[in-house]
Amino acid sequence: MYIDTHLHLCNRWCDDIHRPKAITDIDKNKIVTWAQSWDIPSYMGALEYSKESKYIFPAFGVLPWEAFDYKDRFDEIAKLCKDALMLGEIGWDERNAQDKRSIPYQVPMLEVFLEAAEKYNLIMNLHFRGGLERDGFELLKSYDSKKAIIHSYSGPPEMIKEINEQGFYVSYGSSKFDKLNKAQTGYYRNRITEVHEDLLIIEIDVLQRDEEFRPPSVVFPKILKIIADMRKTTPEEIEAMNQRNVLRLIGDDPKLEVMRKILDQ
Ligand SMILES: [Zn+2]
Repeated sequence: MYIDTHLHLCNRWCDDIHRPKAITDIDKNKIVTWAQSWDIPSYMGALEYSKESKYIFPAFGVLPWEAFDYKDRFDEIAKLCKDALMLGEIGWDERNAQDKRSIPYQVPMLEVFLEAAEKYNLIMNLHFRGGLERDGFELLKSYDSKKAIIHSYSGPPEMIKEINEQGFYVSYGSSKFDKLNKAQTGYYRNRITEVHEDLLIIEIDVLQRDEEFRPPSVVFPKILKIIADMRKTTPEEIEAMNQRNVLRLIGDDPKLEVMRKILDQ
């Protein structure tokens, strides 16, 4: 079964042309999809899209770049976390922030999510980038939560050993994975081969919105193939590994009972 642990059906650049195509494709091909949000409005969107297919599960998050706009709304965030199925996308990334005013508020906002994840035992999809991979990892370790996914980990490959030891999951994939150049292939191979087989999971992240758009059912098997080649195994084994790892990650979480039933079929 295909399980995409990180997909944006809507973000700041909402696309009303391709999104319905993606949702129809997800439903028809039974692709369990964790719809990530970017801010509160996109989370409201994800909640709506999840009504359009039983395979779509919304995650609540506010990206660090939006932290300035949310600096007075941490209570509202904490409340939404309590009712959320999962958290994502959240994180810490100063270098790529268009709104530099977000910088002093990124960590305080992230900590609201980390506290909620610890309190309610929630899965988290985390974005640590721009040289903050180590700091993000250290902050994460200071909380008592194992259900963390470091999404498209971008730090040094050597650090993955420590991530493995902590039992944190790492996700990889992209809608452009079959179009990587040699340098990009090397970059991903150096990291993907370091992740422990019990901790690697698969994601699409962002679908292309231009004429290059391809639906999840076309993109996902290409990702399986690329990762299988890198790890010198088969796409079937990568698909099975992803399913095993996701099932272990969701564990006996009562909020994710519906998802577990679908995955167990
Ligand atoms: Zn994302």
